[in-house]
Amino acid sequence: MHTGSCLCGTIQYEIDGPLGPIIYCHCSRCRKANGAAFSAVSQVATADLRIVKGEEALRGFDNGKGVHRMFCGHCGSPLFSKRDAMPDIRRLRIGTLDTPIKGKVSAHIFVDSKAEWDEICGDAPRYAEFP
Ligand SMILES: [Zn+2]
Ligand SMILES: [Zn+2]
Repeated sequence: MHTGSCLCGTIQYEIDGPLGPIIYCHCSRCRKANGAAFSAVSQVATADLRIVKGEEALRGFDNGKGVHRMFCGHCGSPLFSKRDAMPDIRRLRIGTLDTPIKGKVSAHIFVDSKAEWDEICGDAPRYAEFP
């Protein structure tokens, strides 16, 4: 069981199941959405992710192509994304976890569109786009 929350604490969630590999996505959309060099993401099953507090504060940005980036309407923390085409999967923003997780970054994706000031470190595999 993992727990997590947004910056202001309004939204709290639990994950009762395994987390997928840790992926750093360097695409320009993730950089915008996070205000950062990349988003740190792990896939979880929709059925395993439960919002236990503050669901009414959850907001989504819809890119018009069936991708919804869900965030806290009070503090703006990005929490997870969901795709209409993949209803069983959520892509958790693992920076919002409050419990420790095992494992390290296992892949960098969309490195062809990474920020020019960002230096990718470590020996995890790097993929130009989505592998
Ligand atoms: Zn919040
Ligand atoms: Zn991305």
